[in-house]
Amino acid sequence: MYMRTTVSFLIGVVLGATAILLYLGETQQLAIAATAHHAGPNVGPTLSRTGPTESGSHVIIPVDGVTANRLKSNFYEARGGFRVHHAIDILAPRSTPVLAAVDGTIRKLFVSRAGGITIYEFDRAEQKVYYYAHLERYASTLHEGMSVAQGDVIGYVGTTGNAPPNTPHLHFAISILTPSKEWWKGEPIDPYPLLTTPTRASMLP
Ligand SMILES: [Zn+2]
Repeated sequence: MYMRTTVSFLIGVVLGATAILLYLGETQQLAIAATAHHAGPNVGPTLSRTGPTESGSHVIIPVDGVTANRLKSNFYEARGGFRVHHAIDILAPRSTPVLAAVDGTIRKLFVSRAGGITIYEFDRAEQKVYYYAHLERYASTLHEGMSVAQGDVIGYVGTTGNAPPNTPHLHFAISILTPSKEWWKGEPIDPYPLLTTPTRASMLP
């Protein structure tokens, strides 16, 4: 009788301990699962909000008051001979402020026959060059080497260069710089998807 009770007791202890171990194991797994689940959706927004390169790479529409639904993609339009447009034309009334699309540096102020009054801006990481053309004029204090913040007024919409006089617009181009970082060289990329795709940061509540 005594012996049987002891055995039963021992079996009880073993079963109890196993149950506790199983319970602990499961809790730990749940904790790991919870951590993984928690880390998943937060990785992107956290990086894009805190990383200076990430936030700097978000491009705003560089003309005051123009919203994404008013933009049209014309990156691949033919422009005489074998030339392709490789830019976006943003229509706006003459003298509308032109804004720095990203944080960066005014690398070059240049006047050309086709582009008229133009600006070449490098981003802070010097990965891309942002080109603004057909300006009516520069912002009064603008100069080469100047640091600008995204949204700063850098010029005004016009028709200088070969823009039709009755169609003021900003010709805006983005190119990936070569390792030598010359402002006139680069691989053009289409600005349209960058200007019209909401960023993760802006989708946060
Ligand atoms: Zn254009």
